[in-house]
Amino acid sequence: MPPGPTPYSHCLSNLLFAWACPRSRANTFGFLPRCVLLLGVIVCQSAPLCAEQASRPALSPVDNQPGAEPVRCLLITGEDYPAHRWQETTPVLVEALSQDGRIHVDVLDRLAEVRNVDWSRYDTIVMHFKNYDANVPGQAAFHALNQFVKDGGGLVLVHFACGAFQEFQSDFEKLAGRVWDPSLRGHDPYGKFEVVITDAKHPITQGLTNFETTDELYTCLAGDTPIHVVAQAVSRVDGRAYPMAFTLNVGRGRVFHCVLGHDVPALRNPSVQALYRRGCLWSAGR
Ligand SMILES: [Zn+2]
Repeated sequence: MPPGPTPYSHCLSNLLFAWACPRSRANTFGFLPRCVLLLGVIVCQSAPLCAEQASRPALSPVDNQPGAEPVRCLLITGEDYPAHRWQETTPVLVEALSQDGRIHVDVLDRLAEVRNVDWSRYDTIVMHFKNYDANVPGQAAFHALNQFVKDGGGLVLVHFACGAFQEFQSDFEKLAGRVWDPSLRGHDPYGKFEVVITDAKHPITQGLTNFETTDELYTCLAGDTPIHVVAQAVSRVDGRAYPMAFTLNVGRGRVFHCVLGHDVPALRNPSVQALYRRGCLWSAGR
């Protein structure tokens, strides 16, 4: 997605406007050519924004519905594999979710604090971390999260969140549907591939079409918990299809698990953003 106009470019517009449309009559030489140039600058600056809006998947008709209670979402981050720069990807994810006026996002970036979360304040939890210390967030925090979902809460897993809670792997697999198995091949080399929508009727994928992305195609998920795959991709390495996004029900709760989003460019893909936005709403029962 191309970046929109920056404050710098707006500042440039103001300077050009002052230059092209002088107040002093003594400075009117070349007034018409200057205005033509100004018009060109305005069109050029508007073009990237228009292109971005055109490429963004349409929101559903009820998006930004006034008066609806927002989905209260807690995004938990703060630790990940070193190549996963959560400090950079978290703001992109928050921005993507917040594009829907029905989603309100809080961010918790200290895993040690997960044990103190007041779960009753939230409708859904977004896991954007992979912990390496078995005691942080720890067993009590894991059980609290597990119970939150079983009691009807939502859960969204982002990319390498499948590698979290290795210390409780069998329990975590029942919650996440599939988990990282370090003994498997990790992923195809970072690059372009096509994501194929496998269920176009599911609320998360309805209206979305197959799309190309540049990312890691994960081949490292393991588990036999029943899941419903809504998007998949075929590996260039071994020709097999792997789930990219899937759902499952845990107790009375809903889980949306998506392995797309290795880095900032991957998370800026408009279709990936739409998946996470819709997955967040669906997990919260909207
Ligand atoms: Zn990655």
